[in-house]
Amino acid sequence: MSETLQVIEPATEAVLAEIPRAGVAEADAAVARAKAAFPGWKAIAPGDRSRLLHALAHLLQDNLEELAVLEARNAGKPIADARGEIGMVVETFAYYAGAPERLLGDTIPVAGGMGFTVREPLGVVALITPWNFPLCIAAWKVAPALAAGNTVVLKPAELTPLTALRLEQLVVEAGIPEGVVNVVAGPGSTAGARLCAHPDVAKVAFTGSTEVGRSIAATAAQTIKRVTLELGGKSANVVFADAEIERAAAAAPMAVFGNAGQDCCARSRILVQSSVLDTFLDALHDAVAQIVVGDPLSEATTMGPLISASHRDTVAAFVDADSPVSMHGETPEGPGFWYPPTVLAPVDPSSRAATDEIFGPIVCVIPFKDEAHAIELANDTIYGLSGSIWTRDGGKALRVARALDTGVLSINSNSSVRVSTPFGGFKQSGVGRELGPHALEAYTEIKTIYYATQEH
Ligand code: NAD
Repeated sequence: MSETLQVIEPATEAVLAEIPRAGVAEADAAVARAKAAFPGWKAIAPGDRSRLLHALAHLLQDNLEELAVLEARNAGKPIADARGEIGMVVETFAYYAGAPERLLGDTIPVAGGMGFTVREPLGVVALITPWNFPLCIAAWKVAPALAAGNTVVLKPAELTPLTALRLEQLVVEAGIPEGVVNVVAGPGSTAGARLCAHPDVAKVAFTGSTEVGRSIAATAAQTIKRVTLELGGKSANVVFADAEIERAAAAAPMAVFGNAGQDCCARSRILVQSSVLDTFLDALHDAVAQIVVGDPLSEATTMGPLISASHRDTVAAFVDADSPVSMHGETPEGPGFWYPPTVLAPVDPSSRAATDEIFGPIVCVIPFKDEAHAIELANDTIYGLSGSIWTRDGGKALRVARALDTGVLSINSNSSVRVSTPFGGFKQSGVGRELGPHALEAYTEIKTIYYATQEH
């Protein structure tokens, strides 16, 4: 195996960087550093830990443009989106910087004394992240983990390790002690697998495919590690006949073609009430025609390339001569892992394109008859991550929202993720929640203490 990792720029297919390739030995060394740093980090007064996290948030803000350009080039995402993501990284660290002094416990009335709870950090936590939102998803894990007093080993996806490596430098520059955050840039099969099996790792927080999530959960079970899993999705965008059709159609493309469809929250099934199908499709085609596919560093670009040649092949295999292609967008000529925004309509809900997570710019439009049919179709999936409901009827919106087996929903909107609200999936989309106050629970253990007060 090569000692270096070649990092490729998806828009040009050129080598962007060559970095040392971490394996089992490097994973072990990172866990040892994190273990050594844990007692010191846990002992830092909550207010001081808070100040250090604020310092890191400021430093990230100061370096926002550099990080955004690095992310745009390495992940192939439009620069405007990359700026937004690094902005969310800053916001995530700022939000959790307020947490160390708010890790509250309970006092509980019990016979003969006082019962109370405190929240303790877990120790060394392994954070394994995907290539689609590299630094953003890393921040969702690193920030609450540090706020709660844990030390971390972060393993970014081998295709997109560059911003994580820069974060590791900024952490130290912010004054956070060496060893508190350790980045291991290497393959999942070696470095990642070792972290999941390592006896000194207390928890694995993973974002990635459902398939890898299953194997991580099985490995982590051997040492009863805590596990949080954020996995795949096949989310529904449900458009009722009484919705603002133009608005729903105008918003639909970027809800699935954003990040070139490589988004776990992609609304990749658009369920449209049959009576408005033609009107909706006309407006959808107009909106898809507005997408600008091209150089991620151009301010005009709204969709970049896919992450790799092999991923493009996987995506392309979902469309064949029998597919009901109602629209194919344009892509640039020349090098780059391009695939055009593609609308399939009307799609048989049992076809592979409608059931599998494609993770690329292909959307399936599926007609439905009535409310009950929409709910049945939306829930007919192993996944349950996000989704949208478009209607002017408030009662119906809430009825359908309660009926859908999904972790995150938007009404008359396609937005899924906010730093202050919990995010995660039902069913095979995952276990546990990230962001909001809930993430802190996932990085702490509750300890119950009983203090006897009776006289002897
Ligand atoms: P992936 O599962 O292939 O890899 C994710 C990470 O796991 C990478 O860092 C990889 O190196 C590592 N890994 C692979 N095999 C491993 C093993 N055996 N042990 C330990 N680590 C291992 O996923 P991907 O292709 O990078 O990302 C795409 C997937 O991520 C999609 O399915 C998408 O839906 C999902 N995703 C989910 C969310 C969410 O929040 N639910 C967010 C983003 C992406």
